[in-house]
Amino acid sequence: MVGKESGRQRRPGDPGRPAATERPEIAVVGAGIGGLTLAGALASHGAPYVVHEQTRELAEVGAGVQLSPNAVRPLLRLGLGPALEEHAVRVEAMEVRGWNGRPIARTPLGAACERMFGAPYLTIHRAHLHEALLSLVDRDRLGLGRRLSSAYEHPDGSGVRLTFDDGTVRAADVVVGADGIHSTVRETLRRDEPVHSGLGIYRGLVPVDALPDGAHARLVRLWLGPGGHFVCYPVASGAYLSYAATVPCASSAGESWSRPGDPEALRAVFGTWTGLVADIVTAVDATHRWALHDRPALRTWSTDRITLLGDAAHPMLPFLAQGANQAIEDAMDLAACLADAPLGEIPRRLARYQSLRIPRTAEIQRGSRGNAALLHLPDGAAQRRRDARMAVHAALRDRTALYAHETGRSVVPVPA
Ligand SMILES: Cc1cc2nc3c(=O)[nH]c(=O)nc-3n(C[C@H](O)[C@H](O)[C@H](O)COP(=O)(O)OP(=O)(O)OC[C@H]3O[C@@H](n4cnc5c(N)ncnc54)[C@H](O)[C@@H]3O)c2cc1C
Repeated sequence: MVGKESGRQRRPGDPGRPAATERPEIAVVGAGIGGLTLAGALASHGAPYVVHEQTRELAEVGAGVQLSPNAVRPLLRLGLGPALEEHAVRVEAMEVRGWNGRPIARTPLGAACERMFGAPYLTIHRAHLHEALLSLVDRDRLGLGRRLSSAYEHPDGSGVRLTFDDGTVRAADVVVGADGIHSTVRETLRRDEPVHSGLGIYRGLVPVDALPDGAHARLVRLWLGPGGHFVCYPVASGAYLSYAATVPCASSAGESWSRPGDPEALRAVFGTWTGLVADIVTAVDATHRWALHDRPALRTWSTDRITLLGDAAHPMLPFLAQGANQAIEDAMDLAACLADAPLGEIPRRLARYQSLRIPRTAEIQRGSRGNAALLHLPDGAAQRRRDARMAVHAALRDRTALYAHETGRSVVPVPA
């Protein structure tokens, strides 16, 4: 439908402007972890939605993602228990060591985490999580090959016009930008740019069978060294270790998640590190590398009809492993805010959503930035003080603010 608005069906006789009491159709831009969780949560409430995704074929990068209880609880509520059971790994503990193997801290997870926070700490291949989320979405409501080029909110409150790269124009009552760190929807609200952290990351998978026996342990392991750190954990029911190796990176060029990296360059940095780190980089035959960016926290991210979620709203460095977890939290709160809202209520519901989410995500953005310097201290007095602090704060109860946070259940809109 080139040049002509298409979208939801209006009632007969309605010239195009919906009544304030009508149920709005929600257009979600982006079918990543955040967009699909939102679509799945809206579907569970029976709310009308449509998803527009730029890629023609949905595929996720070959890497893992850590899911903490604050995100696992809502995923279980959405019915993803069996899929997580099939593919994810229940992590027993998180261990932190120095680059030379000296122990720094150990946080027990496993059964203790389930008792304390009502859900396990999981690690999963991104493709498996994506596939599980897709199962919640009605395929007729998922449009692939639709790259949004602009969103225009009509000043008279009649909705939003979405224009796609192929010239298609669609009308929407509400638009959610779940379109990642380079969000086109965010551009309509704010003029800012991603900020390069000075760091880059290598990521990939290694078959566990190619590694010594100890590699099988159900652990999230971190090794900290001067200027960089190395993380690994099992995915695909334990068949692979997903690794992420952070290094200094002067240039912010080549940011794509699928850009090939040089395994020799990875080995040159980490080949001299202790035990399993050296074993993993020795076993790597292909890797991906990209520069790490975030953006400053926003004070507002909603208008009357447009809002943001996930990396579009609050892209963060991966040093608290919360980007995807926060996208899931956003999606659950936003779905709860919008699910039963008639059109006339939408501006207040979007305001409510951002008031729930901005303080929490801004703090996690700041914490993730702060960790960048902390994790990469040179050996010496400051590093020893950091190690001592990490050991003291390794108890599971120290994660309460992060892991106990509840979403989507008791979201009551503010009174008029
Ligand atoms: C190295 C690394 C490790 C990480 N590890 C973790 C972890 O362990 N735990 C964790 O919680 N988080 C982690 N994260 C962060 C996490 O991956 C992201 O925060 C999360 O994927 C964000 O999801 P999203 O849905 O907001 O965005 P994305 O996953 O970026 O999805 C955006 C979607 O929008 C589509 N899109 C973009 N532009 C358009 C357009 N114009 N029109 C239509 N569609 C469009 C894209 O194709 C994509 O499908 C990590 C990140 C990095 C870089």
